[in-house]
Amino acid sequence: MKICIDAGHSIGYNPSPADPTYREGTRMFDLQNYLKPALERYGFEVICTRNRVEDNPSLYARGSMAQGCDLLLSLHSNAVANERNDTVDYVRVYYPVSRRGQALAQSLSETIASVMGTKQEPQFVVRWNSAGNADYYGVIRYAAAVGTCGMILEHSFHTHPRTTAWLLSDEHLRALAEAEAAVIAEYFEMEESEMRYELLKDIKSECYRPTVDKLLKQGFLQGKGGSGEETVLDLGEDALRLLVVLDRAGVFG
Ligand SMILES: [Zn+2]
Repeated sequence: MKICIDAGHSIGYNPSPADPTYREGTRMFDLQNYLKPALERYGFEVICTRNRVEDNPSLYARGSMAQGCDLLLSLHSNAVANERNDTVDYVRVYYPVSRRGQALAQSLSETIASVMGTKQEPQFVVRWNSAGNADYYGVIRYAAAVGTCGMILEHSFHTHPRTTAWLLSDEHLRALAEAEAAVIAEYFEMEESEMRYELLKDIKSECYRPTVDKLLKQGFLQGKGGSGEETVLDLGEDALRLLVVLDRAGVFG
């Protein structure tokens, strides 16, 4: 399964009238950086339309890049006019006029609203162009043209002060990414794989590293090959946790 993430706009684009340090184009790129690894842990292959925060491909390029993907997610926050607005606060997900992915659009809208704690009911809607023969939004239309189901996720409104403050927290964006990935994985019936550590250098956690270094030094733990930081360990998260517990219990002296 392959997913294309499209962080909307570009660096610095759409400052919030409630807090100008919030920029939709920058912050949605930050969300992408949490969402990509979260989806990868479920086994999805993930590509992004913007690999650098400065990138700003056309809507045609963004939609077309999703060719061969099972889903395109375009990440945005919404706005009421261009002024601070203390009332309007809801999540909206746009999905294709073909109605493809409707159930996923509904689950995503409800999940995002619940994580964000937005005031009004979440919405999942389609929008036709004026001729009534295709999707209104370019990124969804161009994705549809290459056979991919595209969705725009509006993470409520950056004209709303509380929502803007909420989206400025890294911890919140991480929680949002985890929740979105879980909903998408459930929809595509993907299961989260246990984190595995192939090489010694992959173990960066302050929690695991001292124990692993100690066991290697004492010879209790021997790699399957390699040396130094390239030592092949091939350990799962559960195994590492168990070693740390045993170490704390004094098993290794
Ligand atoms: Zn936007």
